[in-house]
Amino acid sequence: MEYCSTRDRAYHKSAAEVILQGISSEGGLFIPRQIPALGDLLEQLRGADYRTVARAVMGLYLTDFTAAEVADCVAAAYDDLSFPEGAAPMSALGEEMSMLELWHGPTCAFKDMALQMLPVLMSASNKKVGDGKEIVILVATSGDTGKAALEGFKDVPGTQIAVFYPEEGVSHMQKRQMMTQEGQNVQVFGVKGNFDDCQTGVKAIFTDPAATQAFLDAGKRFSSANSINWGRLLPQVVYYVYAYLQQVEQGRVQMGQPVNFVVPTGNFGNILAAYLAGEMGLPVGKLICASNQNCVLTEFLQTGRYDRNRPFYTTISPSMDILISSNLERLIYLLSGGDDALVRRLYGQLAKDGTFTVDGALLERLRAQFAAGCATDDETADTIRAVFERYGYLCDTHTAVAVKVYRDYCRDTGDTTPTVVVSTASPYKFAGSVLAALGERCPDDDFAVLDALQAVSGVPVPAPLAALQGKKDRFTTVCAPADMLAAVRAALGV
Ligand SMILES: *Cc1c(COP(=O)(O)O)cnc(C)c1O
Repeated sequence: MEYCSTRDRAYHKSAAEVILQGISSEGGLFIPRQIPALGDLLEQLRGADYRTVARAVMGLYLTDFTAAEVADCVAAAYDDLSFPEGAAPMSALGEEMSMLELWHGPTCAFKDMALQMLPVLMSASNKKVGDGKEIVILVATSGDTGKAALEGFKDVPGTQIAVFYPEEGVSHMQKRQMMTQEGQNVQVFGVKGNFDDCQTGVKAIFTDPAATQAFLDAGKRFSSANSINWGRLLPQVVYYVYAYLQQVEQGRVQMGQPVNFVVPTGNFGNILAAYLAGEMGLPVGKLICASNQNCVLTEFLQTGRYDRNRPFYTTISPSMDILISSNLERLIYLLSGGDDALVRRLYGQLAKDGTFTVDGALLERLRAQFAAGCATDDETADTIRAVFERYGYLCDTHTAVAVKVYRDYCRDTGDTTPTVVVSTASPYKFAGSVLAALGERCPDDDFAVLDALQAVSGVPVPAPLAALQGKKDRFTTVCAPADMLAAVRAALGV
């Protein structure tokens, strides 16, 4: 299995190399030169547990790893301590719809599915093809990614991680999650600025030759944990295969019959993993892409026109507040049959004008595989309440966007294919918005909100969030955007 870049097919890199490198030097994203087929594996995996499916599926892509190395990575990432209720439990709501819950990990959001795995993959890759230097992960976060990366990299040998969050720009619970972070190799900094300031600051460090050299001299190499790393995408393919097998197991489909997936989407990583699973031969029906009011993808998948020149809305599903969906580049590459020249042209236009258009056969293929829709905050809140009243099931704001879009899809198409809604966060992670959606008054204190939601819903507060209550703040440093490099240098003694 070899990998190339979406903007340059000339590369023949190994999985370990692309996981360690993150992004290709000309700005493209790494992608397998050929998507492996599941073949008989699907039948063989009937009834298998999550870790078995993970070993089999990831093994197809990690051909430069031994079976024992893949097994070690899987065991380290999806252990019972991190996922006490299983990695991806599924519950049925009525006849057609099943909820695939991907938030039973340490930070209560689906980012754990990938960020529990990426650090072990990186560390194994570093052993294989690295130069013996320690990896220093720098993360700018608007909330979910930072915490999930901290939990993933915590105490992983050969790695250090520093996370920057906008001091005033994350939720109370997210701030608490990060300020109380444990681990010997972690650093957390508040930044006096917004998320863009954090991101710009991190990019400035990555591209500062003097800083890079100073860290290299100290035996350390910068890397990134953001969602364009192949090592974050690959683990996400696993749960689509697992979910399909669960549907078969629960008698909702016969082996070989299609299942639709509805995915609450921001950076297009999660839904792209579903597409990859389909390309491997998983019987995938429609992929339904759900957006909030930032509906740049809805427009693209319906018309072929991607246009980021539009207002940015802050919504109650903040992890989907995004106008540049990076992983879409991989889809365009794959749908065009690996046309790296086309990808270069389209992404050149996007960088220059903020927009591009696809048409003809490519648009037809896009429409054949994907459906898309969006939801306003009011519609999202109404859906949370309606789902709770009808099924007694509590969903978070992001998942509610998906349910709303699925309802519209069924109304418009009459499609009755069994469907899995991908649930991306615990309702307690966005407890204030969920409580308000249920028509309840929201208390001021963070933990009173959790208790109130538990009282109304009867669903217990997840242990990792409840445990924050007794924890002392450990990281209280706040720096100006211009001082981010100095802060990392001081913390790591470089
Ligand atoms: C990150 C995130 C998403 C969006 O996922 P992408 O892979 O970026 O499309 C959706 N919901 C939640 C809760 C998230 O944290």
